Amino acid sequence: MALDNFEISQLKQLLLDERKEVTEALETFGLSRNTDGGYDPNFADISQVTAEKGEAEALVQPLRETLIEIDEALGRIADGTFGLCMKCGKDIPLERLEAVPKTKYCAPCASLLR
Ligand SMILES: [Zn+2]
Repeated sequence: MALDNFEISQLKQLLLDERKEVTEALETFGLSRNTDGGYDPNFADISQVTAEKGEAEALVQPLRETLIEIDEALGRIADGTFGLCMKCGKDIPLERLEAVPKTKYCAPCASLLR
């Protein structure tokens, strides 16, 4: 692990900030209104909601995927594997983590996967 605790805490804060932004963006689509008296998506008529929200869903899907990536990155911070490329196992440079803290690949591996 090349990252020290200070660097990790800063990157964790970046992840938490991004997570908050993504969560708020999802809320603006009205798909998580279960805290303000709106419907709970778990108990709504899923097929009807899906039809009505089909267009929003297309916009929301990438946000949900981003949220998953952020949560995975936070999980890697918790289990101590954060900052290591999930493909080649090398350290991901700090500059790259600062630019894209949720990344799980070093730049060469990421470019191979796209
Ligand atoms: Zn790699």
